[in-house]
Amino acid sequence: MHKDKIEQYLSMFPEVSWDRWSGEDGDITIFGWIDRDDSYKDFCLINFTDNEPYEIYSSSAKYTDSFCGRLDFTHDQCKRVEDTFNVSNMIRLKKADMTKIKYPATQILHWPSGPVNACDEHAQGIKALGNFMGAHVISTKLDKPAECSNCVNESKGKDRVKDGKY
Ligand SMILES: [Zn+2]
Repeated sequence: MHKDKIEQYLSMFPEVSWDRWSGEDGDITIFGWIDRDDSYKDFCLINFTDNEPYEIYSSSAKYTDSFCGRLDFTHDQCKRVEDTFNVSNMIRLKKADMTKIKYPATQILHWPSGPVNACDEHAQGIKALGNFMGAHVISTKLDKPAECSNCVNESKGKDRVKDGKY
């Protein structure tokens, strides 16, 4: 294996923290992780044959195009597993977020102390409270499914009472 050659390739991806590899004699697979803005990581994986990269995979929406370009590869647009297969162990961006949500919010209320996700019912109450306090509370559309934080808090209160922890 030409370690220095492979090291040069790995150095072309400073965004990736390389983690593990397998294979032998320059026919190897190496993968690593990429930091994201949320608490998750994206992966990057390169397959080498004879010490030269021949495939690169990454889950990063931000970097995949650029990564492919650095190796002069064209970016094959990948497809979502949820669009083709149906298994219980897959990431569902489309519907599952909605099904996990017990108390869907319908809007974002811009309260003086910051935005609050609210259902219609709580939005009414919060706006009324805002008026009472002389604050003009406006609401805007949700950009992604979210829970109504007031409903969630109330349900937690109920659970605690039910569990006898009060
Ligand atoms: Zn609510």
